[in-house]
Amino acid sequence: TLAFFNGEFLPIDSLVIPIDERGHQFGDGVYEVIKVYDGKPFLMREHLVRLENSAKAIRLEMPYTVEQLEELIGEGLTRADLRDAQVYVQITRGIAVRLHAFPDASPSISMTLRPAKSLSEETFNTGVKVTLLEDERWLNCYIKSLNLLANILAKQTASDRGCFEAVLVRDGYVTEGSSTNAYAVKDGVVYTHPANKRILHGITRAAVLQVAAEAGIEVREEAFTPEFLLSADEAFITSTTSEVLAITQVDDTVIGTGRPGPVVNQLHAKFRELIV
Ligand code: PLP
Repeated sequence: TLAFFNGEFLPIDSLVIPIDERGHQFGDGVYEVIKVYDGKPFLMREHLVRLENSAKAIRLEMPYTVEQLEELIGEGLTRADLRDAQVYVQITRGIAVRLHAFPDASPSISMTLRPAKSLSEETFNTGVKVTLLEDERWLNCYIKSLNLLANILAKQTASDRGCFEAVLVRDGYVTEGSSTNAYAVKDGVVYTHPANKRILHGITRAAVLQVAAEAGIEVREEAFTPEFLLSADEAFITSTTSEVLAITQVDDTVIGTGRPGPVVNQLHAKFRELIV
């Protein structure tokens, strides 16, 4: 494990964040999580471009270019001597006396590099249970903001209910999971919420849509209802850390056969081919 804060690599348990850091006080920043497979950061460029876009959306100037961040992450992985890793990168509006309006400060960058915490093959083979919850987040969910309180509360409720994930519902339609994108499969067609302000535009989502197109699997970026999900043939979630993961139960309702179905399995296999 290794950390980085404002120009310096440090042990991960270093006490380095000043009290008046705006990430700490306001959650005034944006972040990314990048998975590293066998020494290679997967879809790193895509993640860092999204980081830039998130920063721009909150009027935050990036302290480094995408190329500089790529180099920094590479250096961190070498220093930490990690092959299978998870890199967390966070940019905030910096260190300044606590006032809401933008300070006259330089942005802060912090980073952690840790061994990957991958799901077991057993989890992929059995799929997971999820629970439906009201989406109580703000309306700019396309920004990967540090403000994750609604996501945290949803995930904890899911956990309390013995579920892997909370699948969120806004205005009668499934948006996404608390930290994943969500999909339903009906009659061989994959449905997922359109990439607008109501969801995070998942990097895994984009990769899966590409893989589906190449495999000739039809995808409709259309919002679907909880009832549609409950009666789906298959369902799944995607994220950097969960890859393509079957939903086999939604609350008390078993989805399809109760086992990961052929579309999910095919998409996960094709997705994994991108990694090598
Ligand atoms: N949706 C939300 C709310 C997330 O927090 C995440 C990732 O953590 C995702 C979707 C999946 O995005 P990605 O595939 O880029 O990891």
